[in-house]
Amino acid sequence: MSNDCGINGPEHKIVTTVCPKEPRPSFQTIYMQLAHALAARSTCSRLHVGTVITSTDYRKVLAVGYNGNATGLPNCCDRTEPGNCGCLHSEENAVINCDSPRSMEKHVFVTHLPCVQCSKRLINLGGVKKVFYCSEYRSSESLKILASVGIEVERMPLDLKDLAEPG
Ligand SMILES: [Zn+2]
Ligand SMILES: [Zn+2]
Repeated sequence: MSNDCGINGPEHKIVTTVCPKEPRPSFQTIYMQLAHALAARSTCSRLHVGTVITSTDYRKVLAVGYNGNATGLPNCCDRTEPGNCGCLHSEENAVINCDSPRSMEKHVFVTHLPCVQCSKRLINLGGVKKVFYCSEYRSSESLKILASVGIEVERMPLDLKDLAEPG
């Protein structure tokens, strides 16, 4: 007698594979962690910031950046003046590094809320749909600027417990 599978004999057993349902980090969590890992490379004495630009399906990292002086210049700020230390900003470097076309939709993960100028850089990069940030910055004016051009902004605390997804 044969069963539905066409395999004879009572010795045939159907083995069911059970996938573990333990929580695992979302792509969003992983990219925010990557932004923080990149910030560790910052040589700015003021603030360490990291940026990751990804495709919206999270299958591609399009560019990364962190703040610091230009390549080949001394690995330190030009001056200690607050807000004018001479470092290139993290988002600025990520935008410079991003060679994906404007038509490609993008998400941006930044350790800190972008400043006004970097928000404008992200707007002109083209295709940015959403910006995730972890820590607040001294000015929140950029929230209004990004919202005014239809870029969504979400604060994302880096807490694995909150962000873990089942399955
Ligand atoms: Zn600096
Ligand atoms: Zn900036």
